[in-house]
Amino acid sequence: MRKLICLLVLFILTAGAIHTTAQSSSKPLKTLIIDPGHGGLDPGAIGSKETEANVALAVSLKLGDTLRKAYPDLKIIFTRTTDVLPGNKPNKDAALKYRANLANESGGDLFIAVHCNSAGKHPGGWYERRVVNKIPIVKTYKKGKKTYKKTTYQYEYENVWVENKAKGTETYIWAVSKNDDKLNSLTKNNDYTGEIDSTSTLTLPDPSDPAEKARMLIYTQNYFRKSYNLADYVQENFKDAGRIDRGVKQRNDKGIWVLQATAMPSILIEIGFISNKEEEEYMLSPEGQAEIVANIFDAIRKYKEKLESKVKDNEKDKQTEGEKKSF
Ligand SMILES: [Zn+2]
Repeated sequence: MRKLICLLVLFILTAGAIHTTAQSSSKPLKTLIIDPGHGGLDPGAIGSKETEANVALAVSLKLGDTLRKAYPDLKIIFTRTTDVLPGNKPNKDAALKYRANLANESGGDLFIAVHCNSAGKHPGGWYERRVVNKIPIVKTYKKGKKTYKKTTYQYEYENVWVENKAKGTETYIWAVSKNDDKLNSLTKNNDYTGEIDSTSTLTLPDPSDPAEKARMLIYTQNYFRKSYNLADYVQENFKDAGRIDRGVKQRNDKGIWVLQATAMPSILIEIGFISNKEEEEYMLSPEGQAEIVANIFDAIRKYKEKLESKVKDNEKDKQTEGEKKSF
C-alpha cells in the first residue's frame, strides 16, 4: 500500500513537472531585450531639436510600458533607461559589447534596437551657393593685324535653401553574406549615412575561423528567418500607418554589429529620419511616439502569436505520434 502511495505521489510529481515544461515551452518569447541606440557620450544623429539617443530612449521606454501592460509575464530588459552609454561604458564599442553581453547573459529570446536615421548635410536643410546667372563678357584684342575675340563669363550666385527631404522607416537584420548595394551607392553620394559607424574598431565575424563560421551558421539557420519575419511585420505596420516604407534591409557591416553578436533573433528599427524636420516633429510628438510604439508592439504581438502557434502545432504532432505508438 505504502509503495502504491509512493508511486502515486511520484506519478503526480512527474506529471506536474511535464505539465510545467510543456507550459514554459509553449511560451517561446519569455525575455525581450530592448536596446535604445546610442546614449550619453554618443548622441547618435543630431536633429534640429533633439538627439537620436533621446528620441530612441523615449520611444523604447514607451514600448516597454505597452508590452508590460499587455504581457505581464514577459521579462523586459533594457540596455539603458537613462541618457548614458549602456553599462556606463567609456566608449561606443565597449557599450556595444555590453549591449550584446547583457542580451546573451540574460538568455534573451529577442533583441530589438531602436534608432533614428539621418541624411544630408544638416538637419532640416541647408543653404547652397548656386549659380543663378552667367553673363558673357566679350573682349577683343589685336595680335599683329588680326583681331581676336575672347569671351569670359561672370557668374552670379545666390544662396538657395535645400530642404533635407529624406524620410521614412527601415528595419535592419543581419545577413551573413549580404550587403545592401542600394544603401552602399547612396552612401557614396553622401546622401545617406545610415548606421555605418566608421569609428568602430569592432571586428566583424571571420568566416574562415571555424568557431565563428559555426556561429554564423547557427544564426542563419535559427535566427535569420525569425528576424526577417519580425522586421517585415514592423515595416508592414509602418506602411499601413502611412509612413514611407524603405523596407527590410539585410546587411552585415559594423553599423549593425550588435545584431550578429546576440545569440537570438534580432532587429534594428530606424523609426524615422531625425534630419527631416517633419519626421523629427512626428517622432517628438506624443501622438507620433504612440503610433510608432503601437506599430512596433503589434509586430511583436504577431511574431509572438506565430511562435506560440508553431509550438502548439509541434506539441499536437507529438501527441498524435504518441497516440499512434500506443495503438
Ligand atoms: Zn543610430
